[in-house]
Amino acid sequence: MQRGERTLTRETALIEALSRRFGPAPPGVVLGIGDDCAALSTNGDDYLLWTVDTLVERVHFDLSYTTLTQLGWKALAVNLSDIAAMGGEPRYALLSLGWPPERDPGLALELADGLAQAGREYGVAIIGGDTVASPGQLTVTITLTGVVPARQLLKRAGARAGDLIYVTDDLGEAAAGLEVLKRRPELDADLKAALVAAHLAPRPQLKAGRLLAREGLATAAIDTSDGVASDLYHICQASGVGAVIPAAAVPISPRVLAVAPYLQADPLKLALMGGEDYQLLFTATRDMAARLAPAFAGAGLDPPLLLGEIVAGDRVSLVTGGGEVDISGAGFDHFRLDLEPEEI
Ligand SMILES: [Mg+2]
Repeated sequence: MQRGERTLTRETALIEALSRRFGPAPPGVVLGIGDDCAALSTNGDDYLLWTVDTLVERVHFDLSYTTLTQLGWKALAVNLSDIAAMGGEPRYALLSLGWPPERDPGLALELADGLAQAGREYGVAIIGGDTVASPGQLTVTITLTGVVPARQLLKRAGARAGDLIYVTDDLGEAAAGLEVLKRRPELDADLKAALVAAHLAPRPQLKAGRLLAREGLATAAIDTSDGVASDLYHICQASGVGAVIPAAAVPISPRVLAVAPYLQADPLKLALMGGEDYQLLFTATRDMAARLAPAFAGAGLDPPLLLGEIVAGDRVSLVTGGGEVDISGAGFDHFRLDLEPEEI
C-alpha cells in the first residue's frame, strides 16, 4: 500500500469536503468526523462508540499470502483497535461482505471462522450485516460499536506542549512482516513467524486503552494504523501542537533490526512509516508518565515505550545527528531520510 503525503493530503481533503456536505453534527454527537470512532451521548453514563473499516482485496490484503480465516480476524481486529484508541470496550459488530460470484461461497465460512475467533477473544457479538456480489475484488466491511464511560473518553485532541509521547510496543513488525510475505527472504523460522503474525494477526490493545482511560493516564490517543509519522501528525493536527522524535530513541523492534538487512530496508523507516502495528500511540503529562509503568505492570502489561515529546508548533520532526527532518504525515512515498545510520 502506498501511503505517501499526497495520498494522505488527498484523503484528508476528501474527508473534509465530505464532512462539509454532511453539515454540522446534531446535539448528542460528542465526537463526529475526525477521530478513530464517533462518540454519541446516550442518556446513561456511557458514550456509545461507533466505527467502520473496509478491507479491499489487493489494496489491504492479498489472498496469495493471507488465508480467509486470517482475513476475518484482521477485519475485526482493525476495528477493535479504533475502539481501543478511545479507551472503550467493544460490543457489537455488523459485517458487510462483497463476494466475487465466481468464488466458492463456502469459502466465506472460513472468513466467518476468523471473525468469530476474534469476536470470542475480545467479547464482540456479530449480530447482522449484508452480503453482496462484488465483480472483481473481495471486500470486507465491519461496523463496530463500543462503550466508554463519558468522563474517560480518549481523543486525538488534548495533547499539550511538554507532554511525552508513548507507544504500547516497539515498532515496525507489521510492516516488516508484509515485506517478508512479499519478498520471501530466507529467514530463521521463528523470526519469520513472528513478523508474519504481526502483519496478519494484529492484537488490538484494548486492555491498554481501557487502562489509560480508566486511570486518566493519557491526554490524547490514536491507534497506529497508517504509520507513526502519520498517526502522530493526526494527534498534532487535532491538538494544535507539534512533536519531536529523537531518532536514536525510536523503539524499533529487535526483530525489525534483525530482518532489515535481509529486506535491504531501513529499520527506522519501517518503524516510523510502516503502518498496521495497531498499537496505541498516546501522550501523557509528566505526572501521568510517572504512573505509567506501575499501572501497566499492575494490569499485566509491558510498560509503554517513550517515543518523543509534544512541542509548540504544527510539525512532526525527527531529530537526527544530521539535523531535523520534517516527517509530518510522511508515508513510504514521501519519506526521504537520506542519512547513513551512523548519522542518526
Ligand atoms: Mg484509527
